[in-house]
Amino acid sequence: MNTKTDEEVELLREAGILVSKTLGMLASLVQPGVTTIYLNKMAEAYIRDHGAYPTFLGYGGFPYSICTSVNEQVVHGFPSERVLKEGDIVSVDCGATLNGYVGDSAYTFEVGEVSSEVKQLLQVTKESLFRGIAQAVENNRVGDVGYAVQEYAESFGYGVVRELVGHGVGKKMHESPEIPNYGKRGTGPKLTHNMTFCIEPMITMGKRFVKQLRDGWTICAEDGLPAAHFELTVAVKKDKADVLSTFFYVDEALKAKK
Ligand code: MG
Ligand code: MG
Repeated sequence: MNTKTDEEVELLREAGILVSKTLGMLASLVQPGVTTIYLNKMAEAYIRDHGAYPTFLGYGGFPYSICTSVNEQVVHGFPSERVLKEGDIVSVDCGATLNGYVGDSAYTFEVGEVSSEVKQLLQVTKESLFRGIAQAVENNRVGDVGYAVQEYAESFGYGVVRELVGHGVGKKMHESPEIPNYGKRGTGPKLTHNMTFCIEPMITMGKRFVKQLRDGWTICAEDGLPAAHFELTVAVKKDKADVLSTFFYVDEALKAKK
């Protein structure tokens, strides 16, 4: 199985911290009136200023440095001149390659005040990620992670997107194994010491079905209801996952905004 040395785990942590700080910087910028292309520009500058490369730029032909997915868009949305407005949500997925290792993290931001229903969707999606992380320990299996995410999200009547999954991460953004956000306990590849992967629940307020827009990238909830996406990277350890990226900087920025 795809495991890393302790040195590689530290390099992944450094890349993870950089994307975490980038998301923290964006958290302070997200507000009504801001365009998503502005967020892209600021993220790219921040990543390059810190000696890294925006991993997404050119990845499989993706033309931007971050993904910005608004409201019913789940993931892979193109930054554009679209102006964010009060009550929107925007999921920002960010990747940075630092010293040859990839950091990859995502957060769904509220734009101004959002409805209580949307707020709950975001809270539940984030909590489902933490429940998945809690299962990322040695001798568990990939299915234990997915089961924890799915069980929690579905208990609120939400949809768990099946078409896109988390993934191993290292020198490449997408390594084995795949980490689905659904699954059966005790099934799938066994988790071993220093496996590193991204857990990234994509949760819809309505049905779980998605469609791709004609741009060839943007994934939307088919029923048009809002969707959320949160992502962190972990290294598997014996009793507790070592979380290599963090929402700390986002939390600090959001506190400072209030
Ligand atoms: Mg990502
Ligand atoms: Mg990812």
